[in-house]
Amino acid sequence: MRPSFVKRLACAVSIQDYLRIRCEIMRSRFVFLLVALFFGIVVARAAEPPKLVVTIIVDQMRYDYLERSPEKFTNEGFRLLTERGAFMTFARYNYFPTVTAPGHASYSSGSPPSVHGIIGNDWFDKKTGKDLNACTDSNTNVVAIGTTNKSSASPHNFNGATIADQMRLAFNSKVISVSIKDRGAIMPGGKKPKGAFWMDGKMGRFITTSYYMTNLPSWVSEFNDKQIPQSYMGKKWERLFDEKEYLFTDAAKGEGKMHGETNSVFPHTINTSTNGFETVLPSPFGDEILAQFAIAAIDGEELGQGPQTDMLCVSFSAMDGVGHPFGPYSHEVQDEMFRLDRQLEKLFQHLDEKVGLGNIFVVLTADHGVMPTVEFAQSMGLDAKRWDGGKFMTNLQTHLEKQFGAGSYFRKMTIPLGDIFLNHDTLREKQLTPALIAPVIREFALTNAPIQTVFTRDQLLEGRAPGWIGQCYINGYNAERGADLMLVGKPFAIGGTGSSGTGHGSVFAYDTRVPVLFFGKAFKPGRYSDEFYITDIAATLCAALHIEEPPGSIGKPCLRILADQ
Ligand SMILES: [Zn+2]
Repeated sequence: MRPSFVKRLACAVSIQDYLRIRCEIMRSRFVFLLVALFFGIVVARAAEPPKLVVTIIVDQMRYDYLERSPEKFTNEGFRLLTERGAFMTFARYNYFPTVTAPGHASYSSGSPPSVHGIIGNDWFDKKTGKDLNACTDSNTNVVAIGTTNKSSASPHNFNGATIADQMRLAFNSKVISVSIKDRGAIMPGGKKPKGAFWMDGKMGRFITTSYYMTNLPSWVSEFNDKQIPQSYMGKKWERLFDEKEYLFTDAAKGEGKMHGETNSVFPHTINTSTNGFETVLPSPFGDEILAQFAIAAIDGEELGQGPQTDMLCVSFSAMDGVGHPFGPYSHEVQDEMFRLDRQLEKLFQHLDEKVGLGNIFVVLTADHGVMPTVEFAQSMGLDAKRWDGGKFMTNLQTHLEKQFGAGSYFRKMTIPLGDIFLNHDTLREKQLTPALIAPVIREFALTNAPIQTVFTRDQLLEGRAPGWIGQCYINGYNAERGADLMLVGKPFAIGGTGSSGTGHGSVFAYDTRVPVLFFGKAFKPGRYSDEFYITDIAATLCAALHIEEPPGSIGKPCLRILADQ
């Protein structure tokens, strides 16, 4: 071991030796200063906000889709994030129901449906007695812009604020949110983005509403004028790779069909429909249209090119359209992943040219997963089942009449989310209470449907629903909008009477496990199997940006992935 400078100076036998050692000390101090300066700059740079934050959500993309054939992704698509970003490999949804509107509202606000109030894509409105779409704005002054349809959409039903709103407060950010679906653009964009745009499939045009603006910006009109959706009509969808390169079989049990087709195997064709260009959207071409539109937004709004930190929210919807008929083990879903990867590559290349990848943060996740098709699951020996919720409710009504006499016991006879709304007028007439009737309904459900438990409104409001499943239902239950009873299905049980295709919504892994990826100088690249929930995204991103998280956020930042913690 080399003796210390102090010892060597003390032992210096000549003035030359002394001067030489002093010189070494100066040099080493200079090197130390340089190193410190370097790290100082690195820390300062990490604290500097990026020019642009890009959030990407892929509708219905399960975690395992990124792990199945990673070698088939390009270097600059998904692998830019999985290999050069922080990959949360054990990220989960922590509430019921795992569907699109709540998924978008939760990842962007850090709050569950109990707080943000988006309890489904649609729900039964107790005040009006009618179903309400998550994006419907009851303010009659809100009108559609850029379409002849009369939709009046806005984030009106969403309680709180999103990351986009927090960025506007902290940085005066310009926020643009785009998707094929209205809910995919509206929820992440927050309360007052510069613009939120989605596709009117019938017209094949991107639209918005007067909640956001009075006229479409010229870059949106110019994009619409190119008639890109129209150019996909009649187009063939073939596999990107040879058939042998795909896992599983193309003609698996339970696969449905695309519009106008007679079988469920490749190649597919985008057939014409009476609904304009709706048939293009649930195919990989829907993502191609959106990627081009996102690129037009970057250029048209000069995102990340001003003095402030901007935000672009992109929600790709095509996977959901492909996954519902074909299921997670189909060739179609695999091919959709490979093709989406190429669209991400285009988007990232454009961002690199315009803003520089070193100046952006990217967060990518999904709004929910999906169950295997019932028939495919059954062919694998799993206890999968379709059951008819409407028929169940009719039988339940008869059962209650036998026990408590004639009367209409329910406000509606459909239960898409297992949500039962009791008719309180009937209960009052008969001097019954929800507490009296609930055990009767629960026992009937346990013996007559693939139901594993039933939670009551009181249980959920008072936090008395047990276990992980109970916690998910508590997180998903909104006091103002929630039902009287929630039926909890068994794994692999799905509502509906069809004979093909699949769905999502449950608290089981196939619906809740999604990938979460963070990319940018604030994040340490690597694979992290830490416990991580969808509501942790907002807290983690806001910690990386050194800004306050949205008001309803219940999440925690994952400190292990942050470069400056
Ligand atoms: Zn879906």
